[in-house]
Amino acid sequence: MRVSRLMLVTLRDDPAEAEITSHKLLLRAGYMRRLAPGIFAYLPLLWRVLQKISAIIREEMAEVDALETLLPQLQPADLWRRSGRWDGYTAGEGIMFHLIDRQERAMGLGPTHEEVVTELAADLLRSYRQLPVCLYQIQTKFRDEIRPRFGLMRGREFIMKDAYSFHADEACLRRTYAAMDGAYRRIFERCGLRAVAVEADSGAIGGSASQEFMVTAEAGEDLILASPDGRYAANQERAVSLPPPAVPLEVEGLRTLATPGQTSIEELCAAHGFDPTQTVKVLLLLARFAAAPARAVLVCLRGDQQLNEVKLANAVTARCPDAGALLEIGPLLPDHLAGGLAGGVPFGSVGPHLEDALLPKGEASGAGPVLRLADSSAAELEAFVCGANREGEHLVGARWGELCPLPEVVDLRAAQPGDRCLHDPFQRLEAARGIEVGHIFQLGRKYSEALEARFTDETGREEPLWMGCYGIGVSRLAAAAVEQHHDADGIRWPLAIAPYAVIIVIASSQDPVQVALAERLYGDLGRAGIDVLLDDRPERAGVKFKDADLIGIPWRLVVGRSAAEGRVELVDRSGGGGRQDLSAEEALERLLRLHA
Ligand code: ATP
Ligand code: MG
Repeated sequence: MRVSRLMLVTLRDDPAEAEITSHKLLLRAGYMRRLAPGIFAYLPLLWRVLQKISAIIREEMAEVDALETLLPQLQPADLWRRSGRWDGYTAGEGIMFHLIDRQERAMGLGPTHEEVVTELAADLLRSYRQLPVCLYQIQTKFRDEIRPRFGLMRGREFIMKDAYSFHADEACLRRTYAAMDGAYRRIFERCGLRAVAVEADSGAIGGSASQEFMVTAEAGEDLILASPDGRYAANQERAVSLPPPAVPLEVEGLRTLATPGQTSIEELCAAHGFDPTQTVKVLLLLARFAAAPARAVLVCLRGDQQLNEVKLANAVTARCPDAGALLEIGPLLPDHLAGGLAGGVPFGSVGPHLEDALLPKGEASGAGPVLRLADSSAAELEAFVCGANREGEHLVGARWGELCPLPEVVDLRAAQPGDRCLHDPFQRLEAARGIEVGHIFQLGRKYSEALEARFTDETGREEPLWMGCYGIGVSRLAAAAVEQHHDADGIRWPLAIAPYAVIIVIASSQDPVQVALAERLYGDLGRAGIDVLLDDRPERAGVKFKDADLIGIPWRLVVGRSAAEGRVELVDRSGGGGRQDLSAEEALERLLRLHA
């Protein structure tokens, strides 16, 4: 391809809209343009990158016997109602774009395809003899993200590879899951990415085991916690660890302490010399559901610990099976109680023994008893300091069982860097930022049960299908590659996913000798199947060199003054910038070897 025909418009300065490197560079180097928040036009250079990534994915999907398909993006609401996800995906913070068609039917634009593919399976898969089956597609997904940002990283319209597998039993699902794990590792490696597999939360997709693949990069939105010995790595959303040991509270009996104006753990500890690990803090929250009134949630955590909201949302969802989707969970505010807690109990003085009756009126009293949960960090304290449910007072020496029954114990705390690991307390969790490029799930039978996708097993019995699903953010992967491969001058694409392998720069397009040699090399490389660009623009050499660096083509072949002697310069942009003065034939030979 000739650069003069490429519609290439590069920008000297960083666009104001871009915050992270990949976003800036992809805009500056003419790979994409923004149409609306989170919606981008993929220009020809980027499309080539996406095609190369897709080609690698297709090869590796073929290796695990997955079949390519293409499923509808417009999906009927009824299907999503049957799986129970319509409300969760459309109301509250739901991310599905949805519309009413001319027949007054509600439809959604596919954010993911579990429903559609399970419906197909229900229709097509009848017998264990047809199993296992794995389908995948590479397609635009739509998600009305709450915070679209960072360019391709979090788009509202983006390209995903999503695969779905169907099995007669769980063992078979596990085998395919393991095979996908291998395929994913190969895909990321072949794309030139350093990616790590981490334990992940299964989120709104549901199911049991799930694993994310993270490209480590400063710009990553996710926090990975990993042990130095490499045996444990998890997304912080899901990570578990041992909290620091608590300082024992040496007191006899229970006493009341005057704590005027001390409503935070810090104030309380500063005023009375307690250690935060000796306290229990109580969080009052309100959970809103699609199909049930809101419910108050009381969470007890050790005073020095932080709540993990993802774990909490999972715990609440699991305990309210008939409430429909959990739409939102946030702090309980006086307004939710028509004015506050009964008896004028201030929120800062609430203790674990707060009675349901103190939440008398308003939204929070709608759905039955307060859901009470305690993290094990709080549950394990023998004696502790906590709010007294009275203004300006705390209790010292409170004990579970005496103060109130121990609430149901659930892991709710956020693991932190520096925490000791469960598998080996001598290992401490280290933090790294990551970009989630892939996610694989063992879905189990959640969707097949909901959508009645059954098969007949060897004994003639009807059973729901076992399912797995496997996603890769194709467009996000391209951005992640730029995050890992760039320098001050621009992108440095890994060869396997570069839009072109070689760019030939004619230093002076006025010089017929240079032009002739460049054209010859361009023809030879192209005929040999090498993706080659020829920068034939009538620009100054400096401008062309800068653009070549910016767009990040791995090899640059400069045809300049020494063309008269048949010599050229070969610059290795991706491999560290080494340059060599070679005869045109030697350079050609080197580049042809790229394909060998
Ligand atoms: P995230 O936590 O980043 O929102 P997710 O858990 O919603 O991701 P999945 O539903 O598992 O993601 O989607 C599969 C893959 O699609 C992700 O691993 C990611 O690479 C990609 N992806 C998800 N959301 C977006 C988005 N808004 N823009 C670009 N890629 C995305
Ligand atoms: Mg998401």
